[in-house]
Amino acid sequence: MPETASSKLYKKTIPERLDFLKQACGLDDADLVLLSKTGTLGLENAQRLSENVVGCYELPFAIATNFVVNGKTVLVPMVIEEPSVVAAASNAAKLSEGFDAKTTEPLMIGQIQLVKVKDFSRAKKNILKKQKEILALANRQDSTLVKFGGGAKKIEVRKIGSGKKTMLIVHLIVDVRDAMGANAINTMCEKITPVLEELSGGKARLRIISNLAIYRLATVKTVWKKETIGEETIDAVLDAHEFAKNDVFRATTNNKGIMNGVDAVVVATGNDFRAVEAGAHSYAAFKGKYRPLADYRKNKNGDLEGELTLPLAVGTIGGATRTHPLAKLSLKILGVKTAQELAGIIACVGLANNFAAMRALATEGIQRGHMKLHAKNIAVTAGAKGEQVEKIAAKMAQEGNVSVSRAKELLEKEG
Ligand code: NAD
Repeated sequence: MPETASSKLYKKTIPERLDFLKQACGLDDADLVLLSKTGTLGLENAQRLSENVVGCYELPFAIATNFVVNGKTVLVPMVIEEPSVVAAASNAAKLSEGFDAKTTEPLMIGQIQLVKVKDFSRAKKNILKKQKEILALANRQDSTLVKFGGGAKKIEVRKIGSGKKTMLIVHLIVDVRDAMGANAINTMCEKITPVLEELSGGKARLRIISNLAIYRLATVKTVWKKETIGEETIDAVLDAHEFAKNDVFRATTNNKGIMNGVDAVVVATGNDFRAVEAGAHSYAAFKGKYRPLADYRKNKNGDLEGELTLPLAVGTIGGATRTHPLAKLSLKILGVKTAQELAGIIACVGLANNFAAMRALATEGIQRGHMKLHAKNIAVTAGAKGEQVEKIAAKMAQEGNVSVSRAKELLEKEG
């Protein structure tokens, strides 16, 4: 493809890119003013995080309250554009008896694909025999990680595929301590590849972290007492859970409710939400059937117990966690010292959001609370400005008719 003005965007300065966009998309000066507002991130930082940058994109930064995790009260920063998620998390946490959070060691998997291997059992034997040397070579790539007690710990060898497409997959298990770990692991995988090729007689193709972090799990639990939420609600939530256990359409939306809370904290702390999303959903299907990530049951007192386990590859160091000023601030607000502590809190928010959604859906429906908050958004979409927004949103919520067409009618009446 010949180089065009747009394909050369990366070579241009930001003012040149803005000028190009202005011409190419018919932007006016007011549009460019919007792009010039770069918030706390700033263009310098933004350009360290992405290419072809022309501005910064803002989202609401909110605080969820009432979370008591392992006996400690925490304020939880959440970055999310969907109304009612923060309110729902805070309310579910308030109704709960506090959360217990546990995490496994931060072990991630790096994968090396070897094709054209002729003798699989000999290749596997050769690789496992040299495990110690391979791990040592991997660890020489990241002395910092090793200094903090992390590093490559183990090798696993798998055979996958069939016939001519059979291949050998080597898993490098790495303790990534307080990092998400992708860069650390990818570097190690690339470095040990020539040795693996030699030992297997095969040809290496992909060398990359797996986002299915089955060895890096957070498990959280809480209780909602029958005296607090009522027996009818407990039965309704358990019916909702049964629905999700038996139906993939419901299970998907159920897990989306968990990810509302999870992603909001993952984004607030500058972590990779795509990695967490991919890991969570494949973990939900890991046993062969897509299922709800959380489990609910009645305890011997008749109270509701909720438990959530999911892989959480998040860091307090690396990636954007220390580059984005608000990500750094989020970690300060949370008061977490390790990635494991952070993962525990994130899972609590996921469980809280899951319970809140199930409770609302199984009782009054989510639209009443959700649409009340969403009404302001709808009013703005219809063209309301300043004080009109609150006024029109309140009127629509009171009428139980939250729609752009109703907002437009009310705006016309306002004159
Ligand atoms: P990184 O390379 O920025 O930082 C990690 C490094 O920090 C470690 O390797 C270590 O040398 C150092 N470090 C200092 N103190 C540490 C401590 N206490 N614990 C652990 N390490 C410590 O980040 P990363 O976590 O290796 O990679 C994360 C980034 O990789 C994210 O931006 C992610 O988006 C990106 N990424 C993701 C994928 C994927 O998920 N598939 C693929 C490629 C890149």
